[in-house]
This record gives sequence, structure tokens and C-alpha cells, in this order.
Amino acid sequence: MNISQALIYGREKLVESESPEFDAQVLLCHVLSCQTTFIHSRADQQLNQQQYNAFEQSIKQRQQGQPISHITGQRGFWALDLNVTADTLIPRPDTELLVELALSKFTPNMIVADLGTGSGAIALSLAYEQPTSQILAMDQSSSALIIAKKNAVQNQLNNVSFWQGQWLEAVAGSTLDLVVSNPPYIREDDPHLLKGDVRFEPLAALISGEDGLDDIRIIVRQAQRCLKSSGWLLVEHGYDQAQQVQESFHERGFTNVSSHQDFGGNDRVVMGQKNQ
Ligand code: GLN
Repeated sequence: MNISQALIYGREKLVESESPEFDAQVLLCHVLSCQTTFIHSRADQQLNQQQYNAFEQSIKQRQQGQPISHITGQRGFWALDLNVTADTLIPRPDTELLVELALSKFTPNMIVADLGTGSGAIALSLAYEQPTSQILAMDQSSSALIIAKKNAVQNQLNNVSFWQGQWLEAVAGSTLDLVVSNPPYIREDDPHLLKGDVRFEPLAALISGEDGLDDIRIIVRQAQRCLKSSGWLLVEHGYDQAQQVQESFHERGFTNVSSHQDFGGNDRVVMGQKNQ
């Protein structure tokens, strides 16, 4: 079987997927350890037996619904290549909005916390863009922190430290310049939890109580205590939660509260500033 035939085979096997062509390409590139340009320019190159077996196996995993990022163990986010496992949420392109907005609030030498860092996607992107800052990558899950640390080493980022804990519970008051988080925010009974990649992601990284806002409320309360005056809090939330998240910012005395839309035009991030 050559590359072009492998792509046809993969596409046909993955008809049930949302993006059969793309999935087949990504999985073949993973098996061959190459870029997409290679498979297009070398369409008649033969796969050896080992490559064929590995490709067939990855197609089977995808047919069973496993996320592409779990099969390849990798995901690109911002400027970084990240390791991803079933212990962390798969970083989403929408979360790059959170990084972009957080960067707009940076000044040199800041101390910043990323709450529920997972694979480290947000913390490491900020560390990469702002080398003079100290980023605290925090998570309650020790297995997620192992992945985040591995990603920091792989991307040669030294200005990140890793803390295990419940949100900001163990952090002293008025110590942080900026707090950023993509916390769990899906409602417990949301039917989306039964479809697609989320079925294979850790529930603790996805759901947060009856209305999905339990953790956001805790984060807003604790950030109010831990931020220095004029410090910023930025939180990602569900497409229909902007109003409630804004309300909880106002209830805790945040000012300059604003909502921001993701690439799909959905409200996705609320940010606000601690009172002077
Ligand atoms: N944005 C993700 C989704 O809807 C969920 C991420 C999260 O809960 N923080 O699939």
C-alpha cells in the first residue's frame, strides 16, 4: 500500500468522523513522523509493514471515537507542541483567545497564576511569550501536572513553577498580578458530554455542578482575595454563561468587566480588574 492508497483507505474507514480526510492525513503523518507536505509530494511511496500496521491500528482507534490528540499523543496550541493524554483536557483553539487577552494585560516581571492548567497550554504559552514573568501552573490533578511539567521541559520554558492544589486555596492574599483560567464549566446533565472527544476527557476538567458555574464562582471569589489591587482575572466559560459570569465578577467587586467572543462568534471569556 502506498501513501495515496493509505489516505483513501483511511478516509473510507472514517466516514463516520466529522473530518475523515483530515483525520486520515494527521494519523498517517503521525505514523510516518512527517509533515503533511511530505504525504502530498510522495503519494506513491510504499508503507512498510510496520507503518501499515501502525496506521491500521490508529484508524481503528479513531473509528472507536478516540480523539486524534489521544492517538497521536500531541496537540499544537499557540506556538507550542504539547503532549496530551487522557489525564488532561485537549487544548482547544478557542482557548487561544484567553491567551491573547491575558497577553494584552502583561507588563514586565509579573506573577501570574493559571488555574487548572491541565496540559499546561495556557501557562506555557504565557511563559513563552513573557520570559520575564513568573507563571504558576496550578492543578488539583497530580497526573495532569506531570504532563504539564513534561511540556515545559520539552518547550524549554524555565519561568514556570507547578503547584498542586484546589484553585487558589493555598495562595496568600494580594500576591498575584494576573489570574487566568479555563476551568470546568459544562452542566452536569449537558447532552454534549455523550458525543465526540469529551467522552474521553477527564470529567473533572469538564463539568462543574448543576449550572456549570460552581468552579467559576469559587475562582472569582478567591481571585478577588489573591490578586494585587488593579490585577486582572480572565476566565473562559460556556457559550451561554457570559451574563452569569459577569454578574459573579460584579458581585465580588471587580471593575472594567468585559466579555469577549471566540472564533466561532460565541461569548467565551470574561475579564475584570480588582478594585484599586
Ligand atoms: N470548551 C470545552 C468544550 O466545550 C470544555 C472546556 C471546559 O470545560 N473548560 O468541549
